[in-house]
Amino acid sequence: MVQGNIAIDGPAGAGKSTVAKLLAERLHYLYVDTGAMYRALTYKALRQGVDLTDEKALTSLAENTNIKLVPGEKGGRVLLDGEDVTLFLRRPEVSGAVSLVAQVPGVRRHLAAQQRAIAAAQRVVMDGRDIGSFVLPDAPHKFFLTASLEERSRRRWREMRAQGLQLSPDDVLAEIRARDRLDSERALGPLVVPPDAVYIDTTGLKPEEVVAKILAVLEERSGGGDGPCSTGSAK
Ligand code: C5P
Repeated sequence: MVQGNIAIDGPAGAGKSTVAKLLAERLHYLYVDTGAMYRALTYKALRQGVDLTDEKALTSLAENTNIKLVPGEKGGRVLLDGEDVTLFLRRPEVSGAVSLVAQVPGVRRHLAAQQRAIAAAQRVVMDGRDIGSFVLPDAPHKFFLTASLEERSRRRWREMRAQGLQLSPDDVLAEIRARDRLDSERALGPLVVPPDAVYIDTTGLKPEEVVAKILAVLEERSGGGDGPCSTGSAK
């Protein structure tokens, strides 16, 4: 029996959301896609023409915006001030701007507080960049997923094509590389491997295989395993 919240962090295209969704279904936990919250706020900022270098304006926007994640089919819906904006959040203009919005400390503090409140109310599988390090540092189960840059951009390119978004593979690779850099270099809540996280390289693995590795770790921790941890290496 698994106990406690599960934090899954990693760079863009590492397969976090697919894996986190499957895992949450399996465990009957709530899946929380924190990237969708940053994307929703970015979508609003773009729509309102907010200057993306104006930290005060972005912080105030975050404080005056209601973002709700509604669980359901295909990972659920995202409501921005009551409006369903799910279909807009993966658009290139949002992906291109989200890391600028996400580097603003006031925005991060505000969204992290909401994420903590969600996790305090029910068991969650929460994915993002700073979940194990900043949002839920006391989560008992932390995983860090990554994959080679080439594989991550291939996955993201396929995902976008499936949504009817036509971008060249090179453009997707450049966008992911830029986002990784900004996400890793920001002052508050940067993308880091928490020291107590299990590190899993998902290159060449199917989502179900990654889920199986995570479940094996959880089972072993709850006393169900019969040998040493065989999944990845805790870094
Ligand atoms: O997970 P996803 O790729 O949708 O996240 C989009 C962006 O949101 C990331 O590139 C990052 O800039 C931001 N983000 C963040 N912290 C999180 C989740 C996402 O800064 N916990």
